[in-house]
Amino acid sequence: MSSPTIVWFRDDLRIADNPALTAAIDRGEPVIALFVLDEESAGIRPHGGAARWWLHHSLTSLGERLRERGATLVLRRGPAGRVVREAVQELDAGAVFWNRRYGGAEREVDAALKSTLRADGREVRSFAASLLHEPWTVTTGSGTHYSVFTPFWRACLALPSPRAPLAEPQTIDGARTSPASDDLDDWGLLPSRPDWAAGLRETWEPGEPAARRRLRTFLHEDLAAYDRARDEPSAGATSLLSPRLRWGEISPFTVWAEAVDTDGAGGFLSEIGWREFAWHTLFHFPDLATKNLRREFDAFPWPRVESAHLEAWQRGDTGVRLVDAGMRELWRTGFMHNRVRMVTASFLIKNLMIDWRRGEEWFWDTLVDADGASNPFNWQWVAGSGADAAPYFRIFNPELQAKKFDPQGLYVTQWTGDQLAQEPIVDLGETRKAALAAYDVVKRTP
Ligand code: FAD
Repeated sequence: MSSPTIVWFRDDLRIADNPALTAAIDRGEPVIALFVLDEESAGIRPHGGAARWWLHHSLTSLGERLRERGATLVLRRGPAGRVVREAVQELDAGAVFWNRRYGGAEREVDAALKSTLRADGREVRSFAASLLHEPWTVTTGSGTHYSVFTPFWRACLALPSPRAPLAEPQTIDGARTSPASDDLDDWGLLPSRPDWAAGLRETWEPGEPAARRRLRTFLHEDLAAYDRARDEPSAGATSLLSPRLRWGEISPFTVWAEAVDTDGAGGFLSEIGWREFAWHTLFHFPDLATKNLRREFDAFPWPRVESAHLEAWQRGDTGVRLVDAGMRELWRTGFMHNRVRMVTASFLIKNLMIDWRRGEEWFWDTLVDADGASNPFNWQWVAGSGADAAPYFRIFNPELQAKKFDPQGLYVTQWTGDQLAQEPIVDLGETRKAALAAYDVVKRTP
């Protein structure tokens, strides 16, 4: 009698360098790949619209790759704890393997499941796959976690080098019979009525093979210009790996291994370090998306949200061209260049005086790379309330930022070319003063 191994895929939609999958194959019993769409477990944040689009296509690609090697991807929907338990019973699985997640609610689901399944006599193993360093392994001299990036990254670099990526399996011994699976189309992850995803389709090719190609192209063609041009939104000098890393179509170990010996990769790898730092922060502060990390910011006197201002920002209709260009790029492609993310976020928080959480929610819904750590982490960074954050009083001036990083206006013209000259919806100088005055309340909070 066989006792199949279930590999529960989550944020790791790849077969190369997938330790849970490799260990399942090594266990020598039939392998069943399972993905659960969980929008019900307490505290699990449902995916935003752009993320759902990506997920649909990434699952399609993963399903094909598994099928080509002999295994099927089983799709189920519901609270993951219950759904995985039921699948284990139904398939009489002897073991369940997965790669770890680091969000608070996700860890609770996984820990509860692990103990229930083990109590039931099943083997359960979890693996490190999504971060170069497990968050609890990077500690200060006094054993606590880091709250400043530079020493954090220095400590990471002093640890043993990240392991080499695992080879891609060529064949997988799948289940003898096909377990029941939902039909991906029935999940309704793709937008319809209206279908707003045309720009996403034009911009992206989700899936592991495209992620690998993108890494290679970036390293061979763009890396040399990265340090010089990464802040210029029209330069196309960055890797565009963020959605691929977010969905685990490529592992950070693969990125590390392929980049580390390339000349001049240090700046790029330290950005991978920021990703690690965001997850490190979330691990130690699970409420990152809802609570100020620096609690003195709880005293910030946010005015009532001007919904017309929030909508103008979301639509890219503020009359501030760099902001509008960024917000239109986001709406069209599900992506925005990092420098412009900082500028648009600063404008929302400090010129429109709208709570960073409203902006974080919009990005959550519209970014293809939205993740539970990087998104709130960076919003809090801009707000000044986060870990190693930009001080609140450093307010980006979008016009100066445009002069400096888009001097020929290539980026703003690309995204706002047809926009008629329009007065900004707020006066940049006046709102800056008002934001600084409001910040005085935070400064006075002990
Ligand atoms: P590259 O410059 O090529 O960097 C390589 C990789 O490093 C990225 O793919 C990403 O995984 C990581 N990285 C780079 N910068 C950061 C950073 N500041 N924080 C964390 N990781 C980083 N990134 C996300 O992946 N998901 C998000 O939801 C997200 N939300 C953001 C919200 C705001 C307000 C801001 C200012 C930034 C946000 N970022 C987020 C970080 C950053 O903008 C993107 O990772 C980057 O623009 C992705 O482009 P790239 O892959 O070409 O980056």
